[in-house]
Amino acid sequence: MIEKQPTTPVVLSIAGSDAFGGAGIQADIKTITTCGAYAATAITCVTAQSSHGVFDIHPVPPSTVRSQIDHIINDLPIHAVKLGMLYDLEIIEVVAKALEQIDCPIVIDPVMVASSSDSLIAENAFHAMEELLFPKATLLTPNIPEAKEMGHKHNDDQDWQEVAIDIGKKYGCAVLLKGGHTTSSILTDILYDPKEEEIFCIKNPRIDTANTHGTGCTLSSAIATYLAKGYTLKNAVINGINYVHKLLDKSKEVKMHSKNGPMYHYLQK
Ligand code: PLP
Repeated sequence: MIEKQPTTPVVLSIAGSDAFGGAGIQADIKTITTCGAYAATAITCVTAQSSHGVFDIHPVPPSTVRSQIDHIINDLPIHAVKLGMLYDLEIIEVVAKALEQIDCPIVIDPVMVASSSDSLIAENAFHAMEELLFPKATLLTPNIPEAKEMGHKHNDDQDWQEVAIDIGKKYGCAVLLKGGHTTSSILTDILYDPKEEEIFCIKNPRIDTANTHGTGCTLSSAIATYLAKGYTLKNAVINGINYVHKLLDKSKEVKMHSKNGPMYHYLQK
């Protein structure tokens, strides 16, 4: 019999499949693997995508989402969970219920809209995410459009720290507000941890690239992996951002698609 190795970090990604391979579960597996952990997955929906956009979304039956999670957690020690595209109310409800059985860091990427502007959430499902999932998060990773959906209509860059604090206080979790959607040449990601009452800004020069498809999925998976490996929240965030920054830089020259391309995770090595 093979002995179990409790030191192998395991990350469970509960997210949607992106046929194009740049975002969703596919990005999560590539990220978790190249950051040095074992990736387990529960697929919430199957999407048909290319660099031209999102063409079809087929939600997995909620009972099948639940059964994927249950069978994984009954067999594997889970050290961190990453939530991505959950899509509809029923899936959000079963995921929230299933998470009651797991005691480990949870990173939630509140996926709503793709960079192609296609919606990745069913109507009326956002409220369920807010109520059932965000309070369970160790870290919530909204980008600026998602922060606006959360009720923050600020347009002035000066206000983003306040927005991160508001979101963290509202949901009772740490928040990483990502600055990629500003027009600034220096990007500022803001980490607010209500437990420490601390605000921490990470600045990086903007990388000039169209290969940004899947950056949100990749970042949240990288942070979940570093948390699974035992890093503090702040160090997991710093390492996750560095991972994405380097990957964007290494992927910027590759062009084998028509439009907005993915990152090429294998280049990390
Ligand atoms: N497809 C899936 C399945 C996703 O989970 C996401 C984002 O989380 C996307 C597409 C969108 O990726 P992007 O906004 O980087 O294009």
